[in-house]
Amino acid sequence: MKSTDFNQLKLHLAELQPRQRHELLMLLQQPDSFPELIARLEELTALHPTCPHCRDTPPYKWGCMNGRQRYRCRVCKRTFNSLTGTPLSRLRMAERWLGYAELMMASTTLRYAAKQCQINLGTSFRWRHRFLQLVDYLKSSELAGIVEADETMIRESFKGKRKLTKRAPRRRGSDKKNIKWVKVMVLRDRHRNEADFVLKRFTLRKLELALLPRLQPDAVLCSDGHLNYEALAAKHHLLHKFVNSSAGQRVREEVFHIQGVNAYHSRLKQWMHRFHGVATKYLHRYLGWFRWFEQTRKSDVQPIDFIWQCAVQPRFQQFNRT
Ligand SMILES: [Zn+2]
Repeated sequence: MKSTDFNQLKLHLAELQPRQRHELLMLLQQPDSFPELIARLEELTALHPTCPHCRDTPPYKWGCMNGRQRYRCRVCKRTFNSLTGTPLSRLRMAERWLGYAELMMASTTLRYAAKQCQINLGTSFRWRHRFLQLVDYLKSSELAGIVEADETMIRESFKGKRKLTKRAPRRRGSDKKNIKWVKVMVLRDRHRNEADFVLKRFTLRKLELALLPRLQPDAVLCSDGHLNYEALAAKHHLLHKFVNSSAGQRVREEVFHIQGVNAYHSRLKQWMHRFHGVATKYLHRYLGWFRWFEQTRKSDVQPIDFIWQCAVQPRFQQFNRT
């Protein structure tokens, strides 16, 4: 910027309202990697400028908004930018996203994250779920070789719900008789490809929908011998090895066991413990959040990657597939 322009800018600074002054301060303090995220988004949108409303392509450029290129669709005439159609669209205080993502990577509670980022508790909740909205895409679509399958039980929870309609509120502590459980089925192969499912009812049909599209032709299904797995294997002529764990059997023919998936369950439960219960309707998002940790366990990932992988990239992949 020329020094004359800079002097002009300084003169205008005196006219700022307190809110604008605060906004400008936050903008100047934001980490360098934040513009990097926006730049990556802009680049990707420029490469595949598909309309998020009607999927028509290519649109034409339609001015700039907040430093981002805006496009207008030739067919539906609606405008969009690089964040339209992603969960981050219209989310405010973008300068704090990275700090929030960092806290999510540390698996902190909502209240702690709200305090650290100086945001409202409601905003903290909304951001968490926005960031996790697309994590289902991180499920492996292909499972090969020995595929371990097993379920674990998670307590049904209506956390956050103001009025319980299905049952009376529980007394603190006991009342164990009335606890209901939901099943979480985890599929995992020996290359650490993983997919998980919240199943309120564990039926053959549900198993077919979850397993069949993912199972590669050479796969050997390995389970605890639940009748549904046996029925599935018989119906679709799958190679199936079951381990009779209730009779104390752990490994069969030296290689067939479900210890990988059981260890996964135990890590998942240990991680979830810090949240003191998760509402069943959001359980799939927490499973996705944990899955992200598992997938990135040994790599050096930054908060920017977290935002990118959980909230933005899948939506672009979705656009490009159609
Ligand atoms: Zn359109």
